Amino acid sequence: MSSPLSPTETRALLESLGHRPVKNLGQNFLIDGNIVRKSLEIAKIEPSDNVIEVGPGLGTLTQALLDAGANVYSIEKDRRLAEHIRKMELSSNGQLNLLEGDAMDFPLAGLPADVSHFKIVANLPYAISTPWMESIINGPTPQSMTLMLQKEAAQRFVAASGTKQFGSISIFLQAAFEVSQSHNVAGSCFYPKPDVGSSLLHLKVRKDPYKFPKSDRTLIRDLFKQRRKQMGSLLRKSSHPKTNEWLKMLNGLSIDLKTRSEQIGIDTWIRLSRS
Ligand code: SAM
Repeated sequence: MSSPLSPTETRALLESLGHRPVKNLGQNFLIDGNIVRKSLEIAKIEPSDNVIEVGPGLGTLTQALLDAGANVYSIEKDRRLAEHIRKMELSSNGQLNLLEGDAMDFPLAGLPADVSHFKIVANLPYAISTPWMESIINGPTPQSMTLMLQKEAAQRFVAASGTKQFGSISIFLQAAFEVSQSHNVAGSCFYPKPDVGSSLLHLKVRKDPYKFPKSDRTLIRDLFKQRRKQMGSLLRKSSHPKTNEWLKMLNGLSIDLKTRSEQIGIDTWIRLSRS
């Protein structure tokens, strides 16, 4: 596998492209070979795997994925970086399908609709990681996701019930995926160094992945808007059509109606939604 560019080489390349990293596009490029190797290793990339990548940037992860023989679907918003990727001499072990555009419009980076088996490997632009994840959760389910994320977002995604970070995104994500690995990643692995901490997260699809219907997602989000309030009183005040069913179900499960939403575990949310 080719090594990523060093900080000096990255700076020189950016200069030759006449490009300054754009902060609000989260342009913190990977410069650490171990992290690139680790990402590929935990993603268990095999030849012919279909892999979605968001934001190829200078092509570091993309190269490694292609080296491993993957069929990569990648989307880049920055026109200059997309042009750079198009001009790169890339490994011919795999195949690159590059889309220039916004991952919020094309969360699956142009993956053909008839491809049902795919993985996601990405060093995500931190500003879009939560809304992009919401789109992924509501679309076709990947086999796994190996993601570099802002530490705070990773904590919210994998949070357990009863913790401050536990929220609707934790429920929607963990109903479909199990967290198999999570590593803190030092700022020195990126150029430029991000202002926030980073985590590498590996999520595997559950044996019985559950996708919440849209209307249930709305109710759950509403319940978490007032997370300090009791579930019973929030449900009684809500005009959502399922509130009576959920109140009955909580009673049936002997869950005190004074319980707060953040204390209810994933499996109970799934049972409520399935009712
Ligand atoms: N994959 C490269 C790496 O690991 O070095 C770059 C990762 S960098 C954290 C994020 C990349 O996502 C940048 O190339 C940025 O231009 C791109 N990007 C930011 N927002 C985007 C969006 N909404 N849609 C697609 N790409 C985006």
